[in-house]
Amino acid sequence: MKVLITGGSRGIGEACVRAFCQKGDSVAFLYHASHERAKALSNETRAIAICADVADATSATAATKDAIARLGGIDVLVNNAGISQIKLFSDITDEDWRKMIDTNLGGAFYTSREASRTMVAQHSGRIINIGSMWGKVGASCEVHYSASKAGLRGLTMALAKELGPSGITVNCIEPGVIDTEMNAALDESTRQELSDSTPLCRIGKAEEVANVVCFLASEGASFITGQVFGVDGGFAI
Ligand code: NDP
Repeated sequence: MKVLITGGSRGIGEACVRAFCQKGDSVAFLYHASHERAKALSNETRAIAICADVADATSATAATKDAIARLGGIDVLVNNAGISQIKLFSDITDEDWRKMIDTNLGGAFYTSREASRTMVAQHSGRIINIGSMWGKVGASCEVHYSASKAGLRGLTMALAKELGPSGITVNCIEPGVIDTEMNAALDESTRQELSDSTPLCRIGKAEEVANVVCFLASEGASFITGQVFGVDGGFAI
């Protein structure tokens, strides 16, 4: 399979890069600022690393085109790149809002629009969006993050309806609290609280999200589309 993963330099995206490479798939990934990490991962896995800003239409579109050209096509697109920010609602600036929506929701729009052109022509493809449980239940002090992730739910369902007749599935995974750098700023007591609020009594691993991404990209998931899967240890039940 030919697989493109956004935000592949770290965390959940890196786990996805490693998981698909281990299966022998051809993988390309987009990253933004982690040049050294991306280079090291590319050297280790042979995945193609492409620097791009998914929040920028021109950059995201060009990078997706470049990835498709270098992979020789595209079967799977994983929209994983994302940012988070904790702020009181009244302190969120116009710039904070725009950056959040442009990165988390706009990024998925730009890459999916470009990839779908190839997928429709070949009458097959899988698009997997990485949302968040906060897109389902909402997080206090993360209104812009929650709104961007709720938008991904709508994008997933609408696109699944539109692209289904073209043989393309579109699904969304909503992780719970996962041990990545996105949560590095949380202090120990907050981590413990989040862990205690999770029915499985722990924080998840990036690999546990990547496992579900690989399943949704596999033949076993051929009749699943427009669905939202919580990979959150039961947090958002
Ligand atoms: P990390 O912060 O560990 O990694 C984020 C990745 O996204 C990096 O590879 C980063 O690239 C990339 N990225 C960020 N902004 C851009 C941009 N403008 N253009 C291109 N790439 C960009 O996050 P996680 O691995 O934890 O999160 C991955 C996804 O999972 C996100 O969408 C996040 O919202 C979601 N998620 C995470 C949860 C968690 O608890 N960790 C819970 C629920 C959802 P670079 O470093 O090169 O800038």
